[in-house]
Amino acid sequence: MTGFVHAALGAALGKAIRHPAVAFGAGVGSHILGDVVPHHDMDIGEVPLVFGTLGYLAYEHGWKSPQFWGALGAVCPDFEHIPYELKKDPRRYEAMEEKWVPTHNGRLKHGTWPLEAKYGVMLNFSLFIVGLVLAGTLQKKS
Ligand SMILES: [Zn+2]
Repeated sequence: MTGFVHAALGAALGKAIRHPAVAFGAGVGSHILGDVVPHHDMDIGEVPLVFGTLGYLAYEHGWKSPQFWGALGAVCPDFEHIPYELKKDPRRYEAMEEKWVPTHNGRLKHGTWPLEAKYGVMLNFSLFIVGLVLAGTLQKKS
């Protein structure tokens, strides 16, 4: 799943769980589930959206909020891709046994998107909005 969707759904889990440390763990677990379901990955171009989402969650709910920690837990597993991206390792998109996350190292099947990319992008943004609504982020007053 695309990182900013992981973040929004992790924030929603955090709101439901209400405890930052537990939300972080649940976020990590939700990453694996999110990777398994069929989805369209938006690739490295989404990195500003991921960090923008984390920053926005911290701004709206605070650094110590379960929403922020749930989102951080949900995106953390993808940080293991960073060294391969920086090295431009040609194997960075393939199953690599030195990675830890089962959907990244091939031990669990990583979901693929069966339809046109535009529908996958639409689903990503829909899930993103749903996640932020469930997290109480978009309807926050002030
Ligand atoms: Zn992943």
